[in-house]
Amino acid sequence: MTEFDLISRIRARVRQRGDVALGIGDDAALLQVPPGRELVVTADTLNAGVHFPEATAPADIGWKSLAVNLSDLAAMGAAPAWCTLSLSLPQADERWIDAFLDGFLALADQHGVALAGGDTTRGPLSISVTAMGLVEPGSALRRDRAQVGDDVWVTGTLGDAAAALEASLEGREVPGLLRQRLDRPMPRVAAGLRLSTLAHACIDISDGLLADLAHICERSGVGAEINLADLPASAELAAASSAERWHWQACGGDDYELCFTASPRDRDLIVQALDFTDVSATRIGRIVAGQGVRAFGAEGKEWQPPRRGYEHFA
Ligand code: ADP
Ligand code: MG
Repeated sequence: MTEFDLISRIRARVRQRGDVALGIGDDAALLQVPPGRELVVTADTLNAGVHFPEATAPADIGWKSLAVNLSDLAAMGAAPAWCTLSLSLPQADERWIDAFLDGFLALADQHGVALAGGDTTRGPLSISVTAMGLVEPGSALRRDRAQVGDDVWVTGTLGDAAAALEASLEGREVPGLLRQRLDRPMPRVAAGLRLSTLAHACIDISDGLLADLAHICERSGVGAEINLADLPASAELAAASSAERWHWQACGGDDYELCFTASPRDRDLIVQALDFTDVSATRIGRIVAGQGVRAFGAEGKEWQPPRRGYEHFA
């Protein structure tokens, strides 16, 4: 297989959208941004051994490489539209690329995202995706709009992926549901869209709740306090000891849930807005004057995590 065979193979399987005036096959793609919309653009790279264990199934790598990008669009309150895919592959392996596309395109089709272009090179396994979405002008959810007195919320449950990764690194058996959360994160696109008129600030949790909430605080010039006992846990995690669970939930990476702040007046509206999506949201704390994120455990005692979240160059 040559580079061009690989690209033809990708092209043959892509489902297009009417607003892709020119897709894979030219020097660049032509995308029609509808009048009166803002274009939201994000990029994320997944490196083998850093972002996923080397043994991860190619279909899961495909899914996850798009999912982490759609999660960023979700956190902006954007409707996903298009993406590009830059692949660095050790060899042109058609079985690998077919399986990768199974995962990648399954998620793309779920969200009506068209793959409009990319790049294919030889090198260590690395996948770079750029995802593009659309918002009404001025309505994107941002990190810098949290207000003192806001509630802090998270969607779904936290810590499942971190627990799965730890079990798998230690060679223990990983319960199917936890593995699913690590390998096939569900970007909270519908939730992001529905929250766009209600949330003040929003971020997707990729590096751990405390680390990512700290980004909202920093950008908004505020502090936050969270109650560890309120962190939503899956049935699998609820069985673990609180010390173990809190660490996964507050500091573990790869959750791909949304963390957002909103006025306490809008509590009922938020619950209703998420009624017809695949997740609900839980209130876990509040925004306060000051800076930094403080976490409180049983009996209101402040909890100091050993490590707050994933940092690449730490
Ligand atoms: P160029 O040399 O002009 O950059 P390429 O040979 O890299 O062109 O790519 C040819 C076409 O195939 C382009 O339209 C490019 O966007 C597309 N393409 C290349 N690799 C991928 C990929 N991994 N996924 C989707 N489209 C791709
Ligand atoms: Mg190229």
